[in-house]
Amino acid sequence: MFNKRNQLDETLNQMLDNPKFHDYYIFLTETNKITNLTRITDIDSVYYKHFYDSIILSKHLDLKNKTILDIGAGAGFPSIPLKIIEDSLQVTIVDSLNKRIRFLDDLVDKLNLEGVKNIHGRAEELETKNHYDIVISRAVARLNILVELTLPFVKPGGWFVAYKSSNYREELDEALTGIKKLGGSFDRAETYQIDNEESHVLIFIKKVKSTDNIYPRQFAKIKNNPL
Ligand code: SAM
Repeated sequence: MFNKRNQLDETLNQMLDNPKFHDYYIFLTETNKITNLTRITDIDSVYYKHFYDSIILSKHLDLKNKTILDIGAGAGFPSIPLKIIEDSLQVTIVDSLNKRIRFLDDLVDKLNLEGVKNIHGRAEELETKNHYDIVISRAVARLNILVELTLPFVKPGGWFVAYKSSNYREELDEALTGIKKLGGSFDRAETYQIDNEESHVLIFIKKVKSTDNIYPRQFAKIKNNPL
């Protein structure tokens, strides 16, 4: 059974103390037997690579009473673990696969989470532009594409945070022109250790001004002709 406390890591201990993570683990792995949600299923890996990886953001941004949009959350990562540890967070999830949205609706009921809205649709079709305090996304697209699916929805003064693997430098360089065109500014990258083998990075992009209404473009244009 997973239990690797670390006296210096309050975030990790907060996760271990919260029974909702165990309920999430059980529901995720049970549903995964009939519908494809994740390749990772053993308890240690789900806790580290999904739950702990997701909640790392709480070490860097104050999430109290913030509105957060998660683009392509799949089985709920990173936004649902963040909601479990910060109940005042108002979460909107958009995912283009309806079976994942149905799973998330059931999960939200099971865990008794209030203030989570799951939308079946594509990010580039959302109308809530320049609106959210924070937009997050993990494992959805290369950064030069992802910025157009995310930054238009951040309000000026807010943040887009991309969860990436530690070899992010080239991806970031490719995305810098687009970030600027969309009203963003690269702030910093924070590297962190997931377990003994893996390190990941959070890329913080500040929204410095409203995004022009022509963005995001249709997906084919975003993909074939990144900014
Ligand atoms: N973020 C989750 C994670 O880290 O485990 C899921 C990652 S999964 C590889 C990518 C998800 O993004 C899928 O559920 C897919 O349906 C969704 N997706 C891809 N493009 C999207 C778009 N343009 N708008 C909304 N969802 C999208």
